[in-house]
Amino acid sequence: MYRGMFFSALLITAGIFFVVLPSGPHEISAHEEEVKVQEEFQVYIPSVSKTLYEIQEGDTLLGILQTEVGIEYEDAFTLVEQINEVFDITKIRMGNSITIQYEDDVLSKISYDINTSEELVLTPSAQDFLVERKDIEFEVRQATVSGSVESSFYQSALDVGLTDRMIMELATVFAWDVDFASSIQKGDYFSLVYENKYREGEFAGTGDLIAGRFVNNGEEFFTFLVKDTDGKNQYYNEDGDATERLLLKTPLSYKRISSGFSLNRKHPILGTFKTHRAIDFAADTGTPVETVGNGTVTFAGWSDTYGNYIKIDHGSGFTTAYAHLSKMYVSKGARVKQGDLIGAVGTTGRSTGPHLHYEMYKNGTPVNPLTTETPSGKPISEESKPNLQEVVDLYKSQL
Ligand SMILES: [Zn+2]
Repeated sequence: MYRGMFFSALLITAGIFFVVLPSGPHEISAHEEEVKVQEEFQVYIPSVSKTLYEIQEGDTLLGILQTEVGIEYEDAFTLVEQINEVFDITKIRMGNSITIQYEDDVLSKISYDINTSEELVLTPSAQDFLVERKDIEFEVRQATVSGSVESSFYQSALDVGLTDRMIMELATVFAWDVDFASSIQKGDYFSLVYENKYREGEFAGTGDLIAGRFVNNGEEFFTFLVKDTDGKNQYYNEDGDATERLLLKTPLSYKRISSGFSLNRKHPILGTFKTHRAIDFAADTGTPVETVGNGTVTFAGWSDTYGNYIKIDHGSGFTTAYAHLSKMYVSKGARVKQGDLIGAVGTTGRSTGPHLHYEMYKNGTPVNPLTTETPSGKPISEESKPNLQEVVDLYKSQL
């Protein structure tokens, strides 16, 4: 075989095209030739530097491109028009940054994060710029973390390295089974597998909660993530029952009250159900109250006993009621969604101090909201069952 051809073949196999020069009269061995080829392929790595420009009040993109990047007015003007075709520049926000990247002191890229998943990228070419909207590339690494509740769930979760966002995610996914506002106890246990995202080697936030286990007062709950056919996240227990239920465990959302984490200092105190067929949550006046489920407001008004009082019909025979409110944000006939803010804790009506008096009725009879199980959401579809099994097999033993 002709040697030139042989080496072309070798190089093409290596995935690189280049012109093979005719070899001179000097005979060299294949090995020498290979070494020579490798030397020619040493990749030159340019030195990359980045400048972050924080957008100030009164800035315009046109101005930034001229003053910060050094693009001439006319070119900058054309570029802004080009950008406007893929991204509305009026949506560029003050306080956000534009990254200007140089390779060997030559402009190589200008980028702007549109949101947490997309970026605007301007790449200079010989004549103009290539303007694109791109998905931000993240490297995803899985993490497994577990902990026991000491002083508070939030603090214990922080102590094992969870971010605020992941703590909320965990509380949200178990919010149908666990009353995070008042029933968390010392010794409760949590464990989860989740995603950490990295962008160019730097931590860039958490991704999905993949699997979780929560032990509350000796009762154990599991949840596993399955992506729906339309890409939506759905959580199930290992039997395929949706984690989601008709009603949340408590109208005092951990998510809402935790802003400032007042519950770390003051835990709501539970009244006993037996005494007055309701649960009393001691909480500061103004603490947000949310509806535990989708439904229709059947009463929102004054009662001498209950003060500002809201009653909601959730269908399937379930009704909930919220009393002594300082504020009401809904009126009779309104349709509400699970987790909607409906009022604020107060001490209106016959009440001795700020608290939420919370009632649940099943077919007209008062039931204990903390022990009553409400119907579970749609069970997993037949086609998604193998996916759930896969997640359970992979992660359950890690929890
Ligand atoms: Zn009460």
